[in-house]
Formats: sequence, C-alpha cells, structure tokens
Amino acid sequence: MRKFTIKKIPVLISIIIFTATFARELCADELEKDQPAKQLFVNKSGKHYYAKIDRSTGEGQLQILAHKSDREEAWVYIEGDDTKGNQTTLWYEVGENSRSAFADIDFNAVGLSIKESRLHNITVSLYHFHPKSNDPTQGVTATETPSPPDIKALFFCARLLSIKHNYKGPFDSRIVTPTGVYTMQDSAEVNRWDDKQFIEYESTLYETWERLRSNLFDVGKYRGADKSDKIADINNEIAQIMTKEPHFIVTFRKLPNKN
Ligand SMILES: [Zn+2]
Repeated sequence: MRKFTIKKIPVLISIIIFTATFARELCADELEKDQPAKQLFVNKSGKHYYAKIDRSTGEGQLQILAHKSDREEAWVYIEGDDTKGNQTTLWYEVGENSRSAFADIDFNAVGLSIKESRLHNITVSLYHFHPKSNDPTQGVTATETPSPPDIKALFFCARLLSIKHNYKGPFDSRIVTPTGVYTMQDSAEVNRWDDKQFIEYESTLYETWERLRSNLFDVGKYRGADKSDKIADINNEIAQIMTKEPHFIVTFRKLPNKN
C-alpha cells in the first residue's frame, strides 16, 4: 500500500463518504458462505475469504508473506467473545488489486466484517504487509516503514468505523514488514474533528513522517542485505520520535527472523 491509489484518497476525507451508499454492497452473508481458509494468503480472486487464526500465528504468516510474496494484501483482524462467551479470533481478507507496492482496501468489507463476525467486546486491527521488493526503485525505507498513504488509511478507517459504523472500541492499523510489526493508532479526539481540522492536521503529519523516515534510513547502506537488528533499531527510533505527537501513537516490535 505504499502507493495507495490516489483516486480513492479524496473520498477518504470527504464528508460525503459517511452518508454515501457504497458502490459495491456485499450481500450480508457473503463473507461466511465458504469454509475458513487454513492460512493467510494473497488473494488473486475478486472474492474475499476469512480464517480462524490467532493474532500471533497470523502475524507470523504475514511475515513469511513479506519475505516471499511479490504482492501486497490486506486483512481485518477481529478478536472478541462469541455468543457462548468463548474468545474467538478472525481474519477477514479485505484487499483489492494486489500489486507489488500497494493494495487497495475494500472499506465496505471492513465494516461488514465487524457485523459478520457476530462477536462482542471486540478489538479490531487493520493489517497489511510489505513484501521485500523486487522493484529496484523501492528500497528498504519503503519496505520497512509505513508510507504516508498507510497513515492516511489508518485515519480514514478509524473515522469510518467511528462515524459511519458507530464502532467505539479499540482500533489500530498494523503493518508487517520482513523485520517486524508497526502498530499505529489515532487519538479518540481525531474522530471528533471536523473535516477541515482533520485535513490540516494530516497533511502536516505526512510531511513530518516522510522527512523522518527518509532521514533515518540510509537506503543505499541497507538495501538488499540482512540487517534486521539495525533495521529494527531504526524502526524503533522512528516510532519513539513520532509517538510523541499526541494524536498519532506508533510502536514497532521486532519479530523473530524468518530468513
Ligand atoms: Zn503499506
């Protein structure tokens, strides 16, 4: 999602989005017609799938995909209690148009996933992974750090769930890289801002983020080499600097090497 398709972005920040009818409505039970997948994979069909996998196992599978896949993919992870009070963990694949450096997110399916999970007391995470790039123009910075469009997707999805779907529970956006997991959250206050205030805020934030990640990564030095400990240190430094910003909470957690 490093090059999140721009044509979708203006929609993200429009008031219209919260009252508009989505162009492509999934039928209510479409997400549960099939059997759950046994593991997470990059979906090349137009139909979404789901899986019953715990968070840690799912993140491990995304890390393997980050090393091996040549395309990105996106999911919503939902954990909560079923009607009998048993904790349940579900992954709904919600990506579209998977490519090497981006995937669109089907935000309609994101909202439907929460409804279709039929879980209570839920926690929701939006996930995607960044493949080790085959594209020589993409370096370690793009692979290992969230892009400004990734941050845009976080804020859009948080506001969409809060305003359109009235979801007020925990929400974050996580990006699995070959080295670890970035977790990004907005403050609850952001979801109460009007669009003008929000747009001014996010444009400043993207500029700061882009400058920070460009300055801290020495792309030429780390390209193509396994420098996972050094990369994790840099990612932690970026996250610690950015999370001082009061409305944008960022952490990075290294995963065991999958090489
Ligand atoms: Zn991304």
